Amino acid sequence: MADPATIAAAPGRSLRIEPLEDNQKGLCCCCGHLAAAAAVAGNALCLTCVPAYALDEPGIDDIATLIWLPHLEQGALSRCVTALHVACAAEGATIHDETLTGRSRDARRVLDALLACRAGSSERIGTDRPSLLRAAVRALEGHKPPRPEGESGLRVLTLGLWFPDHPRRYFDAAAEWAKSG
Ligand SMILES: [Zn+2]
Repeated sequence: MADPATIAAAPGRSLRIEPLEDNQKGLCCCCGHLAAAAAVAGNALCLTCVPAYALDEPGIDDIATLIWLPHLEQGALSRCVTALHVACAAEGATIHDETLTGRSRDARRVLDALLACRAGSSERIGTDRPSLLRAAVRALEGHKPPRPEGESGLRVLTLGLWFPDHPRRYFDAAAEWAKSG
C-alpha cells in the first residue's frame, strides 16, 4: 500500500470518498485492522484511514494534518490513532473534550505528541495542510513528481473529526469499536 504522499502524487486520479464496491468489502488495505468503510482511488479504507487518502475532499484540512514521522508507516500510525479514539470512547469521551481523565487523558497526550510532529512537515515541505500538498503535486502533473530526500517520512494524521455531512461519524464509530473490543 502506497503512503499518502505517493498517492497524492498520482496524476489524473480523484482523491474523493466513494462508496465501497461489493468486491471491496473486507479489511482496510492501509492499516489491515478495521473493516473497510469507503474507498478512495480504488483503495478500500477504514474510517481512520479514509481521510489520509481523501486529499481532494473539501474540508480535508479540518479532518487531517500532515506530520513528519518516518519511523511509523501510515498503517501503523492509523492503528495507533484508532486505539487512542477507542480508549476515549470506552470512557464515554472524545479525544477533543476539554476535560479528560484516566486513559482518555493519556490518549490526548499521545495525540498532542503526534500533533507536535506537524512542525517537521512544515519544515520540510512548507506546510502541514494536506490540501496544499495535493495542490502542489497536481500543479506538477505531467512532470516527474518531486521525491525529496526522506519524503517517505510524511504521514497524514487523522484527527477523529469528520466532514460536515456527518461531523460525529468517527466518534460514533469509535464508540461502536469500543463496545465490540
Ligand atoms: Zn485503516
